[in-house]
This record gives sequence, C-alpha cells and structure tokens, in this order.
Amino acid sequence: MCLSTKVFQATPLLSNSDLEELVALLKEGSVAAIPTETVYGLAGELFNEAALQKIFRAKGRPADNPLIAHIGSMGDLGGLSEGPSKLFYRLADRFWPGPLTLIAARSKRVPDIAAGCLPTVAVRMPSHPCALQILKRFGPLAAPSANLSGRPSPTAAAHVLEDFEGVIPLVVDGGAALFGLESTVINTVGDIPVLLRPGAISREAIEEFLGMRLSSPEKGSEGASPGMKYRHYAPKAKVILVESEKELAALLKEGAYVPDHLTAQTLYAELRMADLLQKSLIAIHVDAAMRLDEALMNRLEKASENYHHILDLP
Ligand code: AMP
Ligand code: MG
Repeated sequence: MCLSTKVFQATPLLSNSDLEELVALLKEGSVAAIPTETVYGLAGELFNEAALQKIFRAKGRPADNPLIAHIGSMGDLGGLSEGPSKLFYRLADRFWPGPLTLIAARSKRVPDIAAGCLPTVAVRMPSHPCALQILKRFGPLAAPSANLSGRPSPTAAAHVLEDFEGVIPLVVDGGAALFGLESTVINTVGDIPVLLRPGAISREAIEEFLGMRLSSPEKGSEGASPGMKYRHYAPKAKVILVESEKELAALLKEGAYVPDHLTAQTLYAELRMADLLQKSLIAIHVDAAMRLDEALMNRLEKASENYHHILDLP
C-alpha cells in the first residue's frame, strides 16, 4: 500500500501538527495505527467504506468479523445507534472512557461492512489520552487490533511495525498498552446483558456494578460475537500449557520459550518475542489453582493447543 511507514510520537499526546497530518490522512480514506489502553488499533474513518475495506485487506480479516466503532464523546453516539438501551447507558456511564465495548442496535449510517452486516453495532470510548485526542478531533473511527489477522495483538508500536511496516503509512506511538488485552464486549440489546468476550474489565466488576449476573452466549450461537469463533492471538510457535514446574523445566531444557511471569499486560509481547527468537515451542505453566484472570485464560485458550486437556474442560 505504501513504501515507508512514518512513526509519530505521542507522549502522551500528539503535537498539533502531527495531529493535523493524521487527520488529513484519515480524511482521504487512509488508515493509521493508533494507541489505545487495550491494544493498538488500525484506525480508519467509520463512515468511509473504502477506508474500512483497507482495514480488512491490510489485516486479512474475514468479512464477517465486525469492527468496533470508537468514539471520543457521547455526542457521536447518535450517528451510530438509533436507540441504545437503558443498560447501554448505565454501563457507558460507569465504564467509559475505558476498555468496555457495548453492542447496540445499528443506525443505517454505519456501513454494512463495519458491522459484518449484523443489525447491531459495537461501540467503545477508549481512555487512552491520545486515542481520545484523535477521536475528539476527527470523529468516529473503526479500529480493530493493528495486527495481521490471527497474530497476537500489538501492545507496542514496534509490534505494529512487525506486521505493517511498509504497508500502512503511519503508526502513532503512544507507549506500551496499559491493559494489553482486548476490551470486554457486552451485548446490551435485550433485558439481560450478555458477556460476549471477556476482556480488560472483569465480569465481577460489571456484575457487582449492575447487581446482576451476566449471561453467556447460547452454545452454537456463533453469530452472537462473530470474532470469537476464529483462532486468534496465536504466534507462529506452537503454544502448550503445562501443569507442573517439572514439566516446564524439562521443556525449557529442550529449547522451548518459557515466559518469565505471565500477565495480561505481557502475554502478547511474550508470544511475539518467541517468534522473533524463532522458537518453535512456547511452554506456559498454568493450572486451575492459579486462578488466572478470565480474559487471560480466554486468550491462552485461543493461542494454545491443549487448553481443554490441561484444565480438564469439555
Ligand atoms: P476487535 O477484533 O478486538 O476489534 O473486536 C471485534 C470483536 O467485537 C468482533 O470480533 C466481535 O466478536 C465483537 N463485535 C463487533 N461487532 C459486534 C456486533 N455487532 N455484535 C456482536 N459482537 C460484535
Ligand atoms: Mg483483533
């Protein structure tokens, strides 16, 4: 798509001239990677189909995997959804700006391609100061994670360059992502909130705030959150989970890559590091007693080959 990729520093905000250059680029239907508190996003104008097509093409993203609309103010919501529910507003009021994505009925203005032709739209107001700066100046952006589809999401500008150097014109470097895992996704259409994707905001925090349990998508209802059916977040190396320190030590001896201390913030960087070191195997110590965060467990499940076996799940 382009020959050289510019990098703008945002510490923590873009300079005015860099911001204006980014805005001009987005206005002409181009795409750029921007920092958010979850992972870096590949941003394009939400209402510009050509820009959205560029996002899908650059990522190699399946057309039925809808994008999340990012907004910088509640005023932008009107153009995205005709009637967000009471539940939507309660959750937005409590958790925005922040790493929570809410599903609402879609306005006709949102292109089909953004929503994978679903009658709904996913919306989030991020809290990263630079993401907010850009959104407030520009308006709504579609911004899926700035990685090739199937690769681990980028939590630093360097990760974006690994996948898109020479492919996209601009990366805004806003430092390491604070959370390092994607947003929590909740369906707010209907009376009962449904947790479609565990993420940076915990189920417990949301349930405690609402005073009710979140339900889960019905089994086999892949359409509920199309992205969840794909094998995501996987490095080139094979990831296996091991239950004991002894097994881990044996694999380490055989040359496996063993992350030091795995957290939500470091998971994707560790998976990418193993690929850079050209390791063929990544071994991660995990067992049910460790009580790892639900979102981290979900991403390990997607990345690894033997999750169900290790955790004795169906
Ligand atoms: P990401 O790839 O992190 O940008 O997140 C996009 C994910 O949000 C998709 O893969 C879906 O799982 C979910 N999503 C986006 N739009 C919708 C929607 N309209 N209904 C249900 N889930 C959605
Ligand atoms: Mg993604």
